[in-house]
Amino acid sequence: MSNLEDLYREVILDHYRTPRNKGELPPPATCTEGANPLCGDEIRIFLDIADGVVRDVRFSGHGCSISQASASMMTIAVKGKSVADVRAVAKRFKQLMTIEEDDGKVPADIRLGDIEALQGVVKYPVRIKCAVLGWNTLLEGLDSART
Ligand code: ZN
Repeated sequence: MSNLEDLYREVILDHYRTPRNKGELPPPATCTEGANPLCGDEIRIFLDIADGVVRDVRFSGHGCSISQASASMMTIAVKGKSVADVRAVAKRFKQLMTIEEDDGKVPADIRLGDIEALQGVVKYPVRIKCAVLGWNTLLEGLDSART
């Protein structure tokens, strides 16, 4: 198991040191902000949504390695996906983080990939908020873009 934990730690550190899709998108992309005051994490998520598809996504902000790596992995997982699939991925991630029950409604073909590296976070309840910050901010962005 320790080898797997080492691998997960490497994946998280890689995303923290070399974040993917970091930056901003100009309007009319939506921008939502989230913060986790307990840890000092701040995240802004930029979404370019057209025809029900997340065409592009960026994040900016600062904070601990968990919050930033999670946001980086999230951008890869949602870019190019339909809004419905993005919501399913977010739901599966929250199930992984044990903050949502598995009600069997997430399609079986929705996979998390690298994001599973964050499952060790569940052992540290305080850090779950760090891991979920970017995702909650993403979901707010989806809600505000729908109008
Ligand atoms: Zn944090």
